[in-house]
Amino acid sequence: MPASEEFTARLLPLLREVVAVYGTPFHIYDARGIVATHRAMEAAFAGEPFRQYFAVKALPNPSVLRLLLAEGSGLDCASPVELELAARVGAEGDAVVFTSNNTAPQEYALARKGGALITFDDRAFFDRVDELPDVVAFRVAPHGLAAGSALMGDATRTKFGVPADELADAYREARRRGARRFGVHGMICANELDVGRAARAAADVIELGAAVAASAGVPLEYVNVGGGLGIPYRPGERPFDFAAYARAILAQRDASFPGPDKPKILMECGRYVTGPHGVLVTTVLNRSRKAREIAGLDASMSALMRPGFYGAYHHATLPFADDRAEATVDLVGALCENMDKFAEDRTLPDPRVGDIVLVHDTGAHGHAMGFTYNGRLRPPELLLTDDGDVVEIRRAETFEDYTATARWRPEPVLSAARTAS
Ligand SMILES: *Cc1c(COP(=O)(O)O)cnc(C)c1O
Repeated sequence: MPASEEFTARLLPLLREVVAVYGTPFHIYDARGIVATHRAMEAAFAGEPFRQYFAVKALPNPSVLRLLLAEGSGLDCASPVELELAARVGAEGDAVVFTSNNTAPQEYALARKGGALITFDDRAFFDRVDELPDVVAFRVAPHGLAAGSALMGDATRTKFGVPADELADAYREARRRGARRFGVHGMICANELDVGRAARAAADVIELGAAVAASAGVPLEYVNVGGGLGIPYRPGERPFDFAAYARAILAQRDASFPGPDKPKILMECGRYVTGPHGVLVTTVLNRSRKAREIAGLDASMSALMRPGFYGAYHHATLPFADDRAEATVDLVGALCENMDKFAEDRTLPDPRVGDIVLVHDTGAHGHAMGFTYNGRLRPPELLLTDDGDVVEIRRAETFEDYTATARWRPEPVLSAARTAS
């Protein structure tokens, strides 16, 4: 949807000047909006044991991660590289959760050394880990128990988690191996905007966690309900009602854990925290009529692959062309791929060469999913600080970056001559 009024009001007066001195394309994020969203999440759980762990994969920029850490957020990592990044920005111990899938034993060892809260995605992985972490948590596979939750429907195709009917056994095994502290994880939603469905999915994990803990005779320190909360990408969509979500979660927690020992609620939201607080700023390079009306931008799907990859909607605006007659156009990039489009059949003020175009809601899974196909390199990232400064938090990629991993002279791996000896 259109960027928040506050972000727009702070950005637009600066934008032409930023573009003049810096050029396009770039992503720019709103530090104030990101922090405000995080604070609102905390406020919804005020006084209750709760921690939000920002999903690093959504926006793995050190400056943004530090901003969130300073607010008390933890970081959710899913790979050794993300763990390293979390460590480098100062996230330590249980400020990190490691929720990964299809993971090598040495990755768990790395996460354990750093003191992260580890989610085991599978019993087989758990069996292969030599040393257990202080707290053992398993991820619950989607299992279709939550009546009416459409998102539970793909339970038969999931690659994630431990099947619900094996869960109690997994915890018993963990206890047998010496574990004394336990958590549970479940994440079933993806870009979910419906509070009812998201709350049912979370309640389901809490309920199942309580049942399994009772059955296996283990205490549960935390329930991690994952991320997957949605943002309104389309105009007219309503923002997710996080306060209602928090109330529903706390009510279910109290119902499932009526005693004094309430488990802490953890979350791993990425998109919800940063998604709406970023825009991709581009310039129209080319305007043509083919089978379709085309406006060619100076960014490509290497800067934002969601539209081309998933057909995802990203709102686009021409902030300085409001008074112009409209046209229905495709906004396209430069890749040799027909899917390299930010939008199809979008009605906008008729774009002209040199116009600035904003592609909205690029604050999560935007730059992070970028790639370098065709030598169309990833654009830089800027931050609009709380003070109203514009700072560079990632430079544009260069030819040197593009070729940094290439061996200009091949390195020997295996010699054909070996068979002769
Ligand atoms: C991707 C992912 C998240 C974050 O998802 P969002 O949609 O960005 O909130 C959190 N936890 C896990 C395990 C994930 O795979």
